[in-house]
Amino acid sequence: FSPWTDPSAVPFIRFENITKRFGDFTAVDNLTLDIYEREFFSLLGPSGCGKTTLMRMLAGFEEPTEGRILLQGKDISGVPPYRRPTNMMFQSYALFPHMTVEKNIAFGLEQDNLPKGEIAKRVEEMLKLVKLESFAKRKPNQLSGGQRQRVALARSLAKRPKVLLLDEPLGALDKKLREETQFELMDIQTELGLTFLIVTHDQEEAMTVSDRIAVMDKGIIMQVATPAEIYEAPNSRYVADFIGDINILEGTVATTGSALGAPGEVHIDCDGISVAVEQECQAAKGDKVAFAIRPEKVRISQDRPAETSANVVYGEVWDIGYLGDFSVFLVKLADDRIVRAAQANVSRLVDRPITFGDMVWLTWSRDAGLVLTR
Ligand code: ATP
Repeated sequence: FSPWTDPSAVPFIRFENITKRFGDFTAVDNLTLDIYEREFFSLLGPSGCGKTTLMRMLAGFEEPTEGRILLQGKDISGVPPYRRPTNMMFQSYALFPHMTVEKNIAFGLEQDNLPKGEIAKRVEEMLKLVKLESFAKRKPNQLSGGQRQRVALARSLAKRPKVLLLDEPLGALDKKLREETQFELMDIQTELGLTFLIVTHDQEEAMTVSDRIAVMDKGIIMQVATPAEIYEAPNSRYVADFIGDINILEGTVATTGSALGAPGEVHIDCDGISVAVEQECQAAKGDKVAFAIRPEKVRISQDRPAETSANVVYGEVWDIGYLGDFSVFLVKLADDRIVRAAQANVSRLVDRPITFGDMVWLTWSRDAGLVLTR
């Protein structure tokens, strides 16, 4: 499933040069974004980056200051929220405390004056979908947080929107329940064949559920890509740093093995650390760049490597984070810089486990890291 790779595919939702200002503050800045039918799409970014504002404009709760939003090719400016094929589910769920689960789910349908039989049918369908059949007669205060979240989801889906908007939908759930619910959401989305747009500041959540992610910063989109592309080929220091754990070493391009834009080898001097990267070169000699490498791509060893001219540092194990499946080693270099290496924990009973205070060599291969030019 990847309609965005098909140049003839028509976007389901198009944000076209959208700007939103509140007074003289620009919350969304000339943003253009296409989302396709049946996509599970995440807007990811820190608090205040404009992601909720963007979603609220799609729902019709805010109007853009400039630009337009197209839904299936039609401009939806001025269409009130209740006439849009979107439905928004909020973090607070906003369930009616005095109504039973089934009444909560039926509420919007009754407002729309749907026939009684149709309402009953849809409520039953929704209870089944979110696996709450046996809870139909309970009130929200007789449910767990996860169950309340599912009632809110059922209520949002009962109206059969084409696009479901989820604003930090799992924020109130504990980690384990959140992870379970993420998979349930994905199943439901696939089963119903709907387009889901989710706003989150939780990068793990976005990585888990999304077909694609837009990483936002201060009202603009930094990168739109699949979770794997965002993780493995971030386009900037900002995206690299926002998603997952990464080492970023600032440096200057020393030599490039080829012309700009051609594949080859780039050599960077990162304040005394010599780095060689095989990558299509987007920088010229003397350019200030960053070298970025994920900790799991850095090998750690007490043995001196055979090759020491590039991609190697030596330091002391300063800290160790034991995470069960793997450990993260914080290695302090002679100049106090810290480089992190992650290693899978096959067994704790290895011959020479690396421990605090050990002197170690960190090495990495030439295709393991990235040169970032912005
Ligand atoms: P969060 O995760 O904290 O909700 P967000 O990325 O969703 O953050 P928005 O809610 O979109 O951020 O807000 C973006 C910026 O616009 C913020 O600086 C916010 O203070 C500002 N803003 C949002 N709504 C209004 C408003 N009605 N009036 C003035 N400023 C607003």
